[in-house]
Amino acid sequence: MTVLECKNLYKEYKDTIALSNINFSVNRGELVSIIGPSGAGKSTLLRCINRMIEATSGQIIFDGVNVLELNKTELRKQRTKIGMIFQHYNLVNRLSVIENVLHGRLGYKSTLSGVLGRYSEAEKVQAFGILARLGLQEHAYKRCDELSGGQKQRVGIARALIQDPKLVLCDEPIASLDPSSAKVIMDYLKDINRDMGITCLVNLHQVDVALRYSDRIIGIRGGRIIYAGVPAELKEETIHEIYGSKQGELIID
Ligand code: ADP
Repeated sequence: MTVLECKNLYKEYKDTIALSNINFSVNRGELVSIIGPSGAGKSTLLRCINRMIEATSGQIIFDGVNVLELNKTELRKQRTKIGMIFQHYNLVNRLSVIENVLHGRLGYKSTLSGVLGRYSEAEKVQAFGILARLGLQEHAYKRCDELSGGQKQRVGIARALIQDPKLVLCDEPIASLDPSSAKVIMDYLKDINRDMGITCLVNLHQVDVALRYSDRIIGIRGGRIIYAGVPAELKEETIHEIYGSKQGELIID
Protein backbone atom coordinates (compact mmCIF):
# COMPACT_ATOMS: atom_id res chain seq x y z
CA MET A 1 0.00 0.00 0.00
CA THR A 2 1.44 3.35 -1.07
CA VAL A 3 1.88 5.91 1.70
CA LEU A 4 3.79 8.54 -0.29
CA GLU A 5 3.90 9.35 -3.97
CA CYS A 6 5.75 12.14 -5.77
CA LYS A 7 4.50 12.88 -9.27
CA ASN A 8 6.25 15.12 -11.81
CA LEU A 9 7.81 17.09 -8.98
CA TYR A 10 9.89 20.16 -9.84
CA LYS A 11 11.69 22.65 -7.63
CA GLU A 12 13.38 25.71 -9.05
CA TYR A 13 15.34 28.18 -7.01
CA LYS A 14 16.20 31.50 -8.66
CA ASP A 15 18.83 30.16 -11.01
CA THR A 16 18.94 26.45 -10.14
CA ILE A 17 16.65 23.59 -11.08
CA ALA A 18 17.07 21.57 -7.88
CA LEU A 19 14.49 18.87 -8.71
CA SER A 20 13.40 17.87 -12.17
CA ASN A 21 10.49 15.54 -12.97
CA ILE A 22 10.79 13.47 -9.80
CA ASN A 23 8.50 10.42 -9.74
CA PHE A 24 8.56 7.71 -7.09
CA SER A 25 6.41 6.10 -4.45
CA VAL A 26 7.04 4.63 -1.01
CA ASN A 27 5.04 1.75 0.41
CA ARG A 28 3.83 1.55 3.99
CA GLY A 29 6.51 0.04 6.22
CA GLU A 30 9.41 0.55 3.81
CA LEU A 31 12.78 2.09 4.60
CA VAL A 32 13.81 3.94 1.46
CA SER A 33 17.13 5.75 1.14
CA ILE A 34 17.84 8.68 -1.12
CA ILE A 35 21.49 8.78 -2.12
CA GLY A 36 23.47 11.20 -4.21
CA PRO A 37 26.37 13.64 -4.04
CA SER A 38 26.27 16.99 -2.32
CA GLY A 39 23.97 19.35 -4.21
CA ALA A 40 22.02 16.50 -5.85
CA GLY A 41 18.73 17.72 -4.38
CA LYS A 42 18.25 15.23 -1.52
CA SER A 43 17.51 17.80 1.15
CA THR A 44 15.27 19.82 -1.14
CA LEU A 45 13.28 16.70 -1.98
CA LEU A 46 12.79 15.69 1.64
CA ARG A 47 11.80 19.22 2.68
CA CYS A 48 9.29 19.56 -0.14
CA ILE A 49 7.41 16.58 1.31
CA ASN A 50 6.47 18.38 4.53
CA ARG A 51 6.55 21.78 2.81
CA MET A 52 9.45 23.22 4.74
CA ILE A 53 10.30 24.11 1.12
CA GLU A 54 7.56 24.85 -1.41
CA ALA A 55 7.80 22.77 -4.58
CA THR A 56 7.42 24.66 -7.87
CA SER A 57 5.07 22.15 -9.49
CA GLY A 58 3.89 18.55 -9.37
CA GLN A 59 2.10 16.51 -6.76
CA ILE A 60 3.07 14.97 -3.44
CA ILE A 61 0.41 12.54 -2.31
CA PHE A 62 0.84 11.59 1.34
CA ASP A 63 -1.73 9.40 3.03
CA GLY A 64 -4.12 9.96 0.11
CA VAL A 65 -3.91 13.76 0.10
CA ASN A 66 -1.96 16.13 -2.18
CA VAL A 67 0.18 17.95 0.37
CA LEU A 68 0.82 20.82 -2.04
CA GLU A 69 -2.86 21.80 -2.05
CA LEU A 70 -3.35 21.98 1.73
CA ASN A 71 -4.13 25.27 3.44
CA LYS A 72 -2.27 26.30 6.60
CA THR A 73 -4.59 24.54 9.05
CA GLU A 74 -4.75 21.36 7.00
CA LEU A 75 -0.97 21.37 6.59
CA ARG A 76 -0.45 21.70 10.34
CA LYS A 77 -2.64 18.64 10.89
CA GLN A 78 -0.94 16.70 8.12
CA ARG A 79 2.50 17.50 9.56
CA THR A 80 1.65 15.78 12.84
CA LYS A 81 1.80 12.52 10.86
CA ILE A 82 5.28 13.25 9.49
CA GLY A 83 8.27 13.18 11.85
CA MET A 84 11.53 14.81 10.87
CA ILE A 85 15.08 14.02 11.92
CA PHE A 86 17.88 16.46 11.10
CA GLN A 87 21.64 16.24 10.60
CA HIS A 88 22.23 18.82 13.33
CA TYR A 89 19.43 17.44 15.56
CA ASN A 90 17.52 20.76 15.89
CA LEU A 91 17.12 20.37 19.65
CA VAL A 92 16.74 23.19 22.16
CA ASN A 93 20.09 22.73 23.89
CA ARG A 94 19.27 24.60 27.10
CA LEU A 95 16.21 22.42 27.72
CA SER A 96 16.14 18.91 29.12
CA VAL A 97 15.92 15.76 27.09
CA ILE A 98 12.35 15.05 28.20
CA GLU A 99 11.23 18.59 27.31
CA ASN A 100 12.74 18.24 23.86
CA VAL A 101 10.96 14.94 23.34
CA LEU A 102 7.64 16.45 24.43
CA HIS A 103 8.12 19.20 21.85
CA GLY A 104 7.14 16.51 19.35
CA ARG A 105 3.58 16.88 20.68
CA LEU A 106 3.36 20.60 19.93
CA GLY A 107 1.68 20.06 16.57
CA TYR A 108 -1.30 18.57 18.43
CA LYS A 109 -1.77 21.56 20.76
CA SER A 110 -3.12 25.08 20.69
CA THR A 111 -0.41 27.74 20.62
CA LEU A 112 -1.18 28.75 24.20
CA SER A 113 -0.90 25.33 25.82
CA GLY A 114 2.20 24.71 23.71
CA VAL A 115 3.84 27.91 24.95
CA LEU A 116 2.94 27.06 28.54
CA GLY A 117 4.45 23.62 28.13
CA ARG A 118 1.26 21.84 29.13
CA TYR A 119 1.48 18.12 28.53
CA SER A 120 -0.85 15.42 29.77
CA GLU A 121 0.21 12.58 32.06
CA ALA A 122 -0.33 10.19 29.17
CA GLU A 123 2.06 12.22 27.00
CA LYS A 124 4.70 12.20 29.74
CA VAL A 125 4.35 8.44 30.24
CA GLN A 126 4.67 7.95 26.48
CA ALA A 127 7.78 10.19 26.39
CA PHE A 128 9.50 8.17 29.13
CA GLY A 129 8.55 4.93 27.36
CA ILE A 130 10.13 6.14 24.14
CA LEU A 131 13.28 7.31 25.95
CA ALA A 132 13.58 3.85 27.51
CA ARG A 133 13.21 2.24 24.09
CA LEU A 134 16.10 4.39 22.84
CA GLY A 135 18.28 3.67 25.88
CA LEU A 136 18.08 7.23 27.19
CA GLN A 137 16.01 6.82 30.35
CA GLU A 138 18.79 7.89 32.72
CA HIS A 139 19.37 11.06 30.68
CA ALA A 140 15.78 12.34 30.79
CA TYR A 141 16.53 15.35 32.99
CA LYS A 142 19.90 16.29 31.51
CA ARG A 143 20.22 19.37 29.36
CA CYS A 144 20.66 18.44 25.73
CA ASP A 145 23.99 20.25 25.52
CA GLU A 146 25.40 17.66 27.97
CA LEU A 147 24.83 14.85 25.47
CA SER A 148 27.05 13.33 22.79
CA GLY A 149 26.07 13.67 19.14
CA GLY A 150 24.75 10.11 19.01
CA GLN A 151 22.65 10.69 22.15
CA LYS A 152 21.31 13.95 20.70
CA GLN A 153 20.24 12.15 17.57
CA ARG A 154 18.44 9.55 19.68
CA VAL A 155 16.54 12.45 21.31
CA GLY A 156 15.72 13.60 17.77
CA ILE A 157 14.31 10.17 16.99
CA ALA A 158 12.33 10.17 20.26
CA ARG A 159 10.85 13.60 19.44
CA ALA A 160 9.74 12.27 16.05
CA LEU A 161 8.28 9.07 17.55
CA ILE A 162 6.11 10.85 20.11
CA GLN A 163 4.21 12.38 17.19
CA ASP A 164 2.93 8.87 16.37
CA PRO A 165 4.07 9.50 12.80
CA LYS A 166 3.15 7.48 9.74
CA LEU A 167 6.30 8.64 8.01
CA VAL A 168 9.66 9.78 9.31
CA LEU A 169 11.85 11.93 7.08
CA CYS A 170 15.53 11.72 8.01
CA ASP A 171 17.77 14.38 6.48
CA GLU A 172 21.37 13.10 6.67
CA PRO A 173 20.80 11.63 10.18
CA ILE A 174 24.34 10.26 10.53
CA ALA A 175 26.39 12.85 8.63
CA SER A 176 27.68 14.48 11.83
CA LEU A 177 28.41 11.24 13.70
CA ASP A 178 31.43 8.97 14.07
CA PRO A 179 31.06 5.50 12.51
CA SER A 180 30.06 3.66 15.69
CA SER A 181 27.43 6.26 16.68
CA ALA A 182 26.21 6.23 13.08
CA LYS A 183 25.67 2.48 13.28
CA VAL A 184 23.72 2.84 16.55
CA ILE A 185 21.45 5.44 14.94
CA MET A 186 20.87 3.41 11.77
CA ASP A 187 20.10 0.34 13.91
CA TYR A 188 17.50 2.34 15.87
CA LEU A 189 15.96 3.65 12.66
CA LYS A 190 15.75 0.11 11.28
CA ASP A 191 14.29 -1.02 14.61
CA ILE A 192 11.48 1.56 14.63
CA ASN A 193 10.88 0.84 10.96
CA ARG A 194 10.62 -2.92 11.41
CA ASP A 195 9.09 -3.19 14.88
CA MET A 196 6.78 -0.18 14.86
CA GLY A 197 6.00 -0.33 11.15
CA ILE A 198 6.97 3.31 10.64
CA THR A 199 7.83 4.19 7.06
CA CYS A 200 11.22 5.92 6.77
CA LEU A 201 12.63 8.04 3.98
CA VAL A 202 16.30 8.67 4.68
CA ASN A 203 18.78 10.96 2.92
CA LEU A 204 22.21 9.40 3.03
CA HIS A 205 25.58 10.30 1.69
CA GLN A 206 27.08 6.87 2.21
CA VAL A 207 26.25 4.20 -0.35
CA ASP A 208 27.43 1.35 1.88
CA VAL A 209 24.99 2.36 4.63
CA ALA A 210 22.13 2.66 2.15
CA LEU A 211 22.94 -0.78 0.73
CA ARG A 212 22.90 -2.34 4.19
CA TYR A 213 19.76 -0.79 5.65
CA SER A 214 17.33 0.01 2.84
CA ASP A 215 14.45 -1.88 1.31
CA ARG A 216 14.85 0.35 -1.72
CA ILE A 217 17.25 3.03 -2.89
CA ILE A 218 16.61 6.14 -4.94
CA GLY A 219 19.74 7.61 -6.49
CA ILE A 220 19.68 11.22 -7.63
CA ARG A 221 22.13 13.47 -9.40
CA GLY A 222 21.54 17.01 -10.57
CA GLY A 223 17.93 16.87 -9.37
CA ARG A 224 17.03 13.83 -11.49
CA ILE A 225 16.41 10.23 -10.47
CA ILE A 226 19.15 7.98 -11.87
CA TYR A 227 18.14 4.80 -10.03
CA ALA A 228 15.12 3.51 -8.14
CA GLY A 229 15.17 -0.10 -7.04
CA VAL A 230 16.34 -2.66 -4.53
CA PRO A 231 19.91 -2.52 -3.17
CA ALA A 232 20.85 -5.87 -4.75
CA GLU A 233 20.27 -4.51 -8.24
CA LEU A 234 22.22 -1.28 -7.82
CA LYS A 235 25.22 -1.81 -10.09
CA GLU A 236 28.61 -0.27 -9.55
CA GLU A 237 28.42 1.62 -12.84
CA THR A 238 25.13 3.16 -11.73
CA ILE A 239 26.75 4.26 -8.49
CA HIS A 240 29.49 5.88 -10.57
CA GLU A 241 26.86 7.57 -12.68
CA ILE A 242 25.19 8.96 -9.54
CA TYR A 243 28.38 10.18 -7.88
CA GLY A 244 30.83 10.73 -10.71
CA SER A 245 33.22 7.77 -10.95
CA LYS A 246 36.01 8.60 -8.52
CA GLN A 247 33.79 9.58 -5.59
CA GLY A 248 31.59 6.52 -6.03
CA GLU A 249 34.64 4.26 -5.77
CA LEU A 250 35.84 6.00 -2.65
CA ILE A 251 32.50 5.79 -0.88
CA ILE A 252 32.02 2.12 -1.72
CA ASP A 253 35.54 1.34 -0.36
P1 ADP B 1 21.72 17.92 -1.26
O1 ADP B 1 20.82 17.82 -0.09
O2 ADP B 1 21.69 16.70 -2.14
O3 ADP B 1 23.13 18.31 -0.89
P2 ADP B 1 20.25 20.36 -1.86
O4 ADP B 1 18.83 19.95 -1.92
O5 ADP B 1 20.73 21.01 -0.61
O6 ADP B 1 21.19 19.09 -2.21
O7 ADP B 1 20.55 21.35 -3.08
C1 ADP B 1 20.16 21.07 -4.42
C2 ADP B 1 20.54 22.25 -5.31
O8 ADP B 1 19.73 23.38 -4.99
C3 ADP B 1 21.99 22.70 -5.17
O9 ADP B 1 22.44 23.12 -6.43
C4 ADP B 1 21.88 23.86 -4.22
O10 ADP B 1 22.94 24.76 -4.42
C5 ADP B 1 20.54 24.47 -4.60
N1 ADP B 1 19.87 25.15 -3.47
C6 ADP B 1 19.50 24.59 -2.30
N2 ADP B 1 18.89 25.48 -1.49
C7 ADP B 1 18.86 26.66 -2.19
C8 ADP B 1 18.36 27.97 -1.92
N3 ADP B 1 17.74 28.26 -0.76
N4 ADP B 1 18.50 28.92 -2.87
C9 ADP B 1 19.11 28.65 -4.05
N5 ADP B 1 19.60 27.43 -4.37
C10 ADP B 1 19.49 26.44 -3.46
